[in-house]
This record gives sequence, structure tokens and C-alpha cells, in this order.
Amino acid sequence: MVKKLSILGATGSIGVNTLNVIDYNQSEFEIQALTAQNNVELLCSQALKYQAKMIAIGNESLYKKAKELLSGSDIKITAGDEGLVEAASLGNDIVMSAIVGIAGLKPTMAAIKSGANIALANKECLVCAGNLMVNKASESDVKIIPVDSEHNAIYQIYDFDNPNQVDKIILTASGGPFRTTSIDQLQFVTKEQALLHPKWNMGAKISIDSATMMNKALEVIEACYLFDVHHQKIEIIVHPESIVHSMVSYIDGSILAQLGTTNMCNPISYALNWPRRIATTVPKLDLAKQSKLSFFEPDYIKFPVLKMVRDIIDNGMVHQIAFNGANEIAVDAFLSNKIKFTDIIKIIDQSVSKISAPPPTTIDEVLMIDKQIREIALHYIT
Ligand code: NAD
Ligand code: MG
Repeated sequence: MVKKLSILGATGSIGVNTLNVIDYNQSEFEIQALTAQNNVELLCSQALKYQAKMIAIGNESLYKKAKELLSGSDIKITAGDEGLVEAASLGNDIVMSAIVGIAGLKPTMAAIKSGANIALANKECLVCAGNLMVNKASESDVKIIPVDSEHNAIYQIYDFDNPNQVDKIILTASGGPFRTTSIDQLQFVTKEQALLHPKWNMGAKISIDSATMMNKALEVIEACYLFDVHHQKIEIIVHPESIVHSMVSYIDGSILAQLGTTNMCNPISYALNWPRRIATTVPKLDLAKQSKLSFFEPDYIKFPVLKMVRDIIDNGMVHQIAFNGANEIAVDAFLSNKIKFTDIIKIIDQSVSKISAPPPTTIDEVLMIDKQIREIALHYIT
């Protein structure tokens, strides 16, 4: 059966890799909608190539440009937040949620409500509204299948029928570009150095998150919702080769692992085709050539966010939203050369301590808290 697919964030690193997976399996998928924020040229050329029914451009000022680029085709064009929500709700079998940041929350929720399964790359959504999303998914009888490589790995080896037999989840981390940089040098690192991830080629925000290890902190929260476990059951281990994408340790002492090359097409293909597997062009892992796999304890002094995240989770949803929102603002500021690398974590810490709100019960309340924390974090930056 041909699957109807929409891609939220089609022009980004995950979006483009998703289309690469589709290229190899064109008869399996029918593209419904594609969305992007600013890159209207790429979005329109993708829409023409894959004969999408609709596009949504987040930045409304680019609507006219999209009209010009798609003139002569019958592709529907929408724009702004409403356009993104419409694109997400088109009656899809599956929606790839690959917008970066909390901006992906409303469209992803719309996709869940429409009854589509979700291939979830956007971890920030779960961090900010995990309980609301998981509840809505179960109400709508849809699956949330993780695309994030670690969670995708766990999804492949987790015994969902016997969760009480799981002892712990072992989340692997590459350690990022500053794994071997001394703590004293961290304040001097540049944006260019921080963007240069040793193993993965990704969008700017997640690359900086990997450098601060905030990405792993967000992933602990992500795993709590996806696998319904307490954070104490999640251990982080540094694995610089990024070959073991994560592990599940069972009560009898067995540890199951999922291995593969560092190529996001692998988890993307798994999520899109679940519960089947189909062939991809991903290079096969040659373990004999690999020869060495190493594992280390994380450096909690150099990367304090790995400890901070445990308190954040214990303090609940409001702190999780604040943790994410302050990080989004601080990463933007670092990418615009307004703050130092080490200021990112300071700003998160200071901002989160100032937030106060009742626990949110709706997505609008989540977004209100997000707005509040952004103002607080901006205050610390200026
Ligand atoms: P990216 O920056 O390369 O792409 C982001 C996409 O979102 C683009 O299409 C962009 O147009 C769109 N977008 C940006 N801001 C938007 C807004 N305000 N409204 C609507 N659309 C907007 O990012 P990416 O690396 O592809 O990451 C996407 C998500 O996937 C992130 O949540 C990231 O944490 C997660 N993820 C990415 C990777 C990876 O390998 N890149 C791996 C695991 C998880
Ligand atoms: Mg990951």
C-alpha cells in the first residue's frame, strides 16, 4: 500500500535526508505536503520534483515568491502558522516531524489529531509537551516512532510487552566536538568549532546542542516520554565512534544494542516503514574495519547540563519548557556572536530559576510559558 506522507521541515537536514530515503523507494510513498520556514526556492523545487499536493511556507512574507516559483502548477500554497497546521492535517498515513524547536509543536499536534502516525525527529516538542502529545497520540490511536538515532535504536530493541524486565536504558553520546577540549578552553571556542560535529552532519541548532551536551539532556527527557520510564532508569554513556546507537539493559544481565553507520537515513527509513524494513542505500557497517568501540563516563563537571537535567525533570513540565526555551534563545545568541559558548548554560540556569507558572494543561498554555521564558532569557543576554 502506498503511504501518504507529509514532511514538516522538508528543507532541513532531516527533511532532505527523508527525501533521499524516498528517492530509493519512490513507489512506496506519495508526498502530500512539504513545509519550510525561509528556504522557499528549495521548498518549491522539492514540491515540483515530488509532485506534492501542497506546500506551507512558515515565513508569510515569502508567499508571493512561492506563488511565482510554482506558477503553472496546481500545487496549493499556504503560509504562516495556519498553513503549517493545514499541511500537517492533510489526511496523511505518516508525518515526518522535522521542524527545529518548539515551532514544531502545533503542527505536530495537528498531525497527531488528524490520525497520522508520527516519525518524530523534533525532540523539543516532547520536552515541552510530552504528556499532552503522548495522551493525544493514544486517544487518536497513532504511533510516535522516534527518528532521533538513539531513540530509534531503543525503539528497535525495547521489550514494550514486558517493560518490567527492562533494567535501564543506556543512551549513547558521541561527546560532541569538545569531548577532549579542556574545561578552561571551553570559554574561547568559536561558533565554527562548535558547529563542526565529529560524527554527524546536522542543522545548526542541534549541532550546538551536541557541543554543550544539551542535546543529550533533551534526549533524556525525550526517552522518558517515548518509553514511559523514570529518568533514573536512563544512563548516559559516551561512545565517540557513534556506532552503537543506544542499548537496553535487561534484569537478567543481558544488554541489547542497535548498531549501524552514522547515517540518519537509517533511522528515518525505519520510522517511515515501521513495522517493515526496506532496503536503503545506507553503507553497511564493517565491524572488522571498525576494530574498536570505546565507552566512557560523561564529564559532568565540563558538561553540567547532564546533571541539571535530572533536577529539571524532577521539577516538572514548567521547568522542562523553560529549559528548552532558554536554550533556544541562548543558542540563537551564540550563533549571532552575542554570547560566549559557556554563557549558553549559564543563561539556561539563570532563566529557569526565574520561571513560575502552574503546570500547563493545553498546548496554548505550553506556548505561553515558552513566551515567558524567552523574555527572561533575552533579558539575561542583553
Ligand atoms: P535544520 O535546521 O536543518 O532544519 C529545520 C527545518 O525546520 C527546516 O526545514 C526549516 O525551514 C524549518 N523551520 C525552522 N524554523 C521554523 C519555524 N519557526 N517554523 C517552521 N519551520 C521552521 O534542523 P535539523 O537538523 O533537520 O533538525 C530538525 C529536528 O530534528 C530538530 O528538532 C533536531 O533536534 C532533530 N534531529 C535532527 C538530527 C539531524 O541529524 N539533523 C538528528 C536527530 C534529531
Ligand atoms: Mg540523537
